[in-house]
Amino acid sequence: MRIIIFGPQGSGKGTYASRLSPLLGIPHIATGDLLRAARDDKEYGQKIRQYQDSGALVPDDIVLKILKKRLDQPDAKRGFILDGYPRNAEQAKELDKITTLDAVINLVVPEWVLLQRLSTRVQCKNCGEIFNLRTLPPKKPGICDKCGGPLFQRDDDKPEAIKKRLEIYYQMSAPLIKHYRDKGLVIDVECNSPDIPPEIIVNKIMDLLRTFKKVGGQGKQSDEDGHS
Ligand code: AMP
Repeated sequence: MRIIIFGPQGSGKGTYASRLSPLLGIPHIATGDLLRAARDDKEYGQKIRQYQDSGALVPDDIVLKILKKRLDQPDAKRGFILDGYPRNAEQAKELDKITTLDAVINLVVPEWVLLQRLSTRVQCKNCGEIFNLRTLPPKKPGICDKCGGPLFQRDDDKPEAIKKRLEIYYQMSAPLIKHYRDKGLVIDVECNSPDIPPEIIVNKIMDLLRTFKKVGGQGKQSDEDGHS
């Protein structure tokens, strides 16, 4: 299956996608992580750091180049869960040129939940695993459960950058859901509380994906574009 997981920052895209990936047997590909891994790149590193740290979008040509390279890896041939791409109309157009999608999971989350999640989120410096100091704390403070790496708060999870990232999402990314809704690809998943354990939402997504495949990919239609 070729899936996009779509939703604002803090909606849980990364958390859910990393759990869905082994269940579906397809890689979780997050452009935010691909770009963070390229921050030391000789050609693009400086530009990526500059845009990412302020919460702005990295230029489309850089993101597309890095994404195409990842989609060309053998493990992505069977499918993928794409997280963080597309973020604007141009990126959606480019994606249509390079692949055909099976479903778009649209996470519908109220803004107060997003703000609470982002301000308490920490990430592993080594493997990228995400924790939440309130709802999903690591077993040992400051240490990743998965690989033992150090946890840190991303610069773009600090209040000013969060504000900017959410503004960009609602202006440029949220309207893209219409493009996918018109193609009958959207599965809406509502998450109205920061305290729902990730496994509950993941099970809900798996059930919705099964039903969606059975009915031939015609997702539930709704007017909700993820903005509360
Ligand atoms: P994320 O981890 O998805 O929240 O992304 C973190 C940051 O990486 C974003 O604020 C952007 O600076 C950059 N980024 C990730 N994906 C994209 C994309 N598709 N287009 C442009 N910039 C991106």
